[in-house]
Amino acid sequence: MLTLAHLERGVNLRCGVTVTEVTGDGVRLADGELVEADEVLVAVGSRPNTDWLDGSGLTVGDGVVCDEYCQAARNVYAAGDVARWYNPLFGVAMRIEHRTNAAEQGMAAARNLLDPGAGKPFAPVPYFWSDQYDMKIQAYGYLRGHDEVAVVEGDLDERRFVAAYRIGDRLTGALAVGMPPKAIRQWRLAIAKGASWRESVGIGAAAN
Ligand SMILES: Cc1cc2nc3c(=O)[nH]c(=O)nc-3n(C[C@H](O)[C@H](O)[C@H](O)COP(=O)(O)OP(=O)(O)OC[C@H]3O[C@@H](n4cnc5c(N)ncnc54)[C@H](O)[C@@H]3O)c2cc1C
Repeated sequence: MLTLAHLERGVNLRCGVTVTEVTGDGVRLADGELVEADEVLVAVGSRPNTDWLDGSGLTVGDGVVCDEYCQAARNVYAAGDVARWYNPLFGVAMRIEHRTNAAEQGMAAARNLLDPGAGKPFAPVPYFWSDQYDMKIQAYGYLRGHDEVAVVEGDLDERRFVAAYRIGDRLTGALAVGMPPKAIRQWRLAIAKGASWRESVGIGAAAN
């Protein structure tokens, strides 16, 4: 659906290809094709800056590896883009590159650092939103490694819908396109309380 929205606006999408060179005329692809361009915008993701921690004794692996308290070692805590911490709500280690998470995790890590005895696990429901053309996209939860994605409200063709993500019997994520915030808030609550897939049936109907 998102691919279609871009194609309709004349975007020439190439997936699964690698750029090998930026030339004076555009970009060269791995198969030798030159895609002509006057301007080139590079958006290639990011890498946590952890080189300076080499030899520190901390475990580093796509970020500073932390437990659920954001603790990397005794009296060492990490937060934000650089932290890969165990999120007990989903039972997986994750690293999130969003401002909200950096702020919330910073506060959680600081609290745990100041009072380790009363440490509280950092177990948020990750969130992001994006505006693409006239579509508002909002997502809550962990949208990877799922067993199933199902459109549970609205209609894909109308580009107004909520899709729910399932891992095993757990509701683990929800992604909404073109829906009011109210529509997805119910899903966030269900993810936060660890609702089962079966329990979440009917959330859409209840919200409307
Ligand atoms: C182009 C771009 C657009 C983005 N847009 C959005 C958006 O729309 N919404 C959103 O939620 N998030 C967005 N993000 C992500 C967001 O900016 C980050 O999630 C957030 O800034 C992370 O905060 P942080 O404090 O963990 O890290 P940072 O903000 O990266 O701060 C880390 C700081 O540590 C410093 N540092 C690194 N190494 C060392 C060292 N060895 N010694 C001392 N200092 C060091 C760095 O210079 C930097 O100032 C965007 C990011 C980028 C790059």
